[in-house]
Amino acid sequence: MNNYDIFQFICREDNYGVLIADNNTGLTASIDAPDASAIDNELKKRDLKLTHLFITHKHADHTDGIDFLKKKYGCTVIGPDKEKNDIPCLDVTVIDEEYIDFSGSPVRVIETPGHTLGHIVYFFERENILFAGDTIFLMGCGRVFEGTHDQMFESMKKIKSLPNDTSIYCGHEYSLQNAKFAISIEPDNKLIEARMKDIERKTLQNIDCLPTNLEIELKTNPFLRYDEMSVRKILEMEKVSDKIIFSEIRKRKDNF
Ligand SMILES: [Zn+2]
Repeated sequence: MNNYDIFQFICREDNYGVLIADNNTGLTASIDAPDASAIDNELKKRDLKLTHLFITHKHADHTDGIDFLKKKYGCTVIGPDKEKNDIPCLDVTVIDEEYIDFSGSPVRVIETPGHTLGHIVYFFERENILFAGDTIFLMGCGRVFEGTHDQMFESMKKIKSLPNDTSIYCGHEYSLQNAKFAISIEPDNKLIEARMKDIERKTLQNIDCLPTNLEIELKTNPFLRYDEMSVRKILEMEKVSDKIIFSEIRKRKDNF
């Protein structure tokens, strides 16, 4: 198991830039490329050279910086095969359950369609670190732009099945809005209430709320709690399928 340094920083408005670096091998990956100059500045600040770019999906706020970073560092750009025509400079395209190697760590690619049809996440299987792009957020999930609610449900199920102690890095800082929504679904959930207070404090002090981890998400993220009887009772939908509950929660968030 490698001991990675992970550096996270806000760029654009609410996007997260994330770098993962191995001190021993000198390899450094950026998860997505929301903002070339913000990522370049972070690399310089840490005295790192970019060797890999892991792209989660085709949206401009995740790909705008690829061109510049590829030209400057000659890094290997990896991204979803299903979106290869919409992402520039891809060297390696990957599909569901394919493994790539980063500094000796097996990185499992998981397709998570919903936000876009080709969206993928990167799971460092030995270290239990998930780079989730716009699939899951702290107490939230990505907006379903291209896929169906059923597809997003299946994608969230895949995330739910990862080890409990998985650290989760996400593409955006949406924590405060998500917390407000979560509490609207489960007003009596004390853990959500406590998290909300913590997020309010951090937001005021400009402190990142991410990363999160799966264990706390399972207890507080409404998009992972479709199978909880307490949630079903609140929604007055005790006897329908998990899928329908998930879809109902997604609809409520869209109108929140
Ligand atoms: Zn997106």
